[in-house]
Amino acid sequence: MGFEKFGRISFASQTKVGDFIDYLEKGELAATKCQQCGRVYFPPRSDCPWCPDSAVDWIKIEGTGKLVTFTKVHYGPTGFEDDTPYTLAVADFNGVKVFGRISKELAEEDTTVGMDLKAVTVTLLGGQLSYELVPA
Ligand SMILES: [Zn+2]
Repeated sequence: MGFEKFGRISFASQTKVGDFIDYLEKGELAATKCQQCGRVYFPPRSDCPWCPDSAVDWIKIEGTGKLVTFTKVHYGPTGFEDDTPYTLAVADFNGVKVFGRISKELAEEDTTVGMDLKAVTVTLLGGQLSYELVPA
């Protein structure tokens, strides 16, 4: 399956990290881990910039993360104009920083740095796949 299945608007149909979609279809969020240095990348990368000859393994983002920072988007980029306002965040899952949206079901006044979040997959209109962060 091509990468066009990812997100509200996907700007690429082919990518070296297409397995990301396969994980989303299984309800899982995944990152890549360099086989040589062990660095973990999210969004996933197929090539480690520190170890050009190394391959990567896929690892699942599981458990509970801590909200590191967030911001509310009121002016959406192309394709996201009708989706505002929404909240973008970074959550730390045991050292792996996951960037993504916070569920619209979490009210802004209930969103606090340090709170526990988990990552869940979501199916958007048209069957597109994505993920979001929800309270744990
Ligand atoms: Zn590496």
